[in-house]
Amino acid sequence: MEDSYQVIIVGAGFAGVAAAKELGRKGVRVLLIDSNNYHQFQPLLYQVATSQIGVSAIARPLRSVFRRFKTVKVLTAKVDSVNAGERAVTTADGQTMRAEILVIAVGAVPNFFNTPGAEELAFPLYSVTDATRLGTGLTRLLDQADRKPDGSVDVVVVGGGPTGVETAGAMAENVKYVVRKYFSPELAARCRVHLVDMVPSVLTMFSSKSQNYATEHLKKVGVQLHMGVGVTEVREDGVTLADGSSVPGQIVVWAGGLKAGDLIAGSGLTQGRGGRIDVDTDLTAPDVEGVYVVGDCANIADSTGAKLPQLGSVAQQAGKWAASNILADLQGGTRTPFRYVDKGYMAMVGRGAAVAELGRKRIQLQGVFAFLSWLLVHLALLSGLQQKIRALFSWLNGYILHSPAQVVVSGPIEKEPPEQGPPPASVT
Ligand SMILES: Cc1cc2nc3c(=O)[nH]c(=O)nc-3n(C[C@H](O)[C@H](O)[C@H](O)COP(=O)(O)OP(=O)(O)OC[C@H]3O[C@@H](n4cnc5c(N)ncnc54)[C@H](O)[C@@H]3O)c2cc1C
Repeated sequence: MEDSYQVIIVGAGFAGVAAAKELGRKGVRVLLIDSNNYHQFQPLLYQVATSQIGVSAIARPLRSVFRRFKTVKVLTAKVDSVNAGERAVTTADGQTMRAEILVIAVGAVPNFFNTPGAEELAFPLYSVTDATRLGTGLTRLLDQADRKPDGSVDVVVVGGGPTGVETAGAMAENVKYVVRKYFSPELAARCRVHLVDMVPSVLTMFSSKSQNYATEHLKKVGVQLHMGVGVTEVREDGVTLADGSSVPGQIVVWAGGLKAGDLIAGSGLTQGRGGRIDVDTDLTAPDVEGVYVVGDCANIADSTGAKLPQLGSVAQQAGKWAASNILADLQGGTRTPFRYVDKGYMAMVGRGAAVAELGRKRIQLQGVFAFLSWLLVHLALLSGLQQKIRALFSWLNGYILHSPAQVVVSGPIEKEPPEQGPPPASVT
């Protein structure tokens, strides 16, 4: 396998897939390595965790994505180390591979900010494995509470950004509609969802109008907000806050931030904020030849020099742009500086309720129109026709009939939530 590829891409998320597609279309020989055999659509992970949608709607086998790309080889392998200076990667089974150009697109990992207990006890939400583990944990918790006459459920979501808001909103609506309908109104009355953040408001990247809208909707569906006070410890039975008070929770969901993972730390590249690589304007890593870093593991600046947020749209556009610069490298052309097209951002708060701030002018939408825009945008962005159809049916089912798409718990209910996720998605 060594030396037969012009480009090695590590990571098949938004950035890696966009780069591989662009290069594959031009006939460049690409090796695309990911530890999973599927591409996962992270913006809908919270829907998997809250049983609104099945895994098969958001995870698409990579060999299916690239079936028509003759020059793109997909390799399912965990990369254990990257030597940026050598443009070499070594997989967990000991194979070392090199290429003319290396693209590092391995995303990020949860940042627990050294909060005691968080890494051991909290549930992160950054992968299909995380989402199914959380979904299984929540379903088991409900079943356990249902077996006791006074059983109750408390869930704490840490982090009031889009992931935390979407997760807390969906959980509270599940209590309101699904638990009431499928378990009992009495159990629903004993289920509580808490949202905690050290900043005073949710969705700080949005306008105050959107923040107020989201806050009011979360309260309306029963989310208990604990804003302006940080979490100092995660315990088996909840969290301790900086003011000394406690919030009870059998499950603590961590949506509190991201950082670059160990692979980046050991790559030999200089790390910047969040452990990410401060890439040059053409998306290459400084001080080495032929290495691009894109997506959540990079600090990418816009044309004004301001760092862009860790978003799917940034990752996707940067992956595509890196590919065009790689083509320039291979053909003796000139690289161009990355220009980000800012389409704005949106967050789902619940059924019929979302906030959206569209385009550079930040056209604001709240409520049903934002909700419908959110559904349409996410449907369009999902990879694969089958996945889109599955998502659409799950949404119709869930938002109209309040019926959960996925309530199956694998294994005996007394067992602890599994460490591993589901078996890999099969190629369909
Ligand atoms: C819950 C959630 C909701 C979000 N919602 C939105 C949203 O609504 N809108 C939006 O724009 N953005 C959203 N984001 C952010 C967006 O999903 C990320 O910015 C985007 O996925 C980053 O893309 P990426 O390609 O850099 O990394 P990823 O998509 O994380 O992909 C990284 C890939 O690298 C692979 N990998 C990692 N380490 C290794 C290794 N050692 N060996 C082999 N493979 C490896 C992983 O398996 C993964 O497939 C959300 C993120 C989360 C977690």
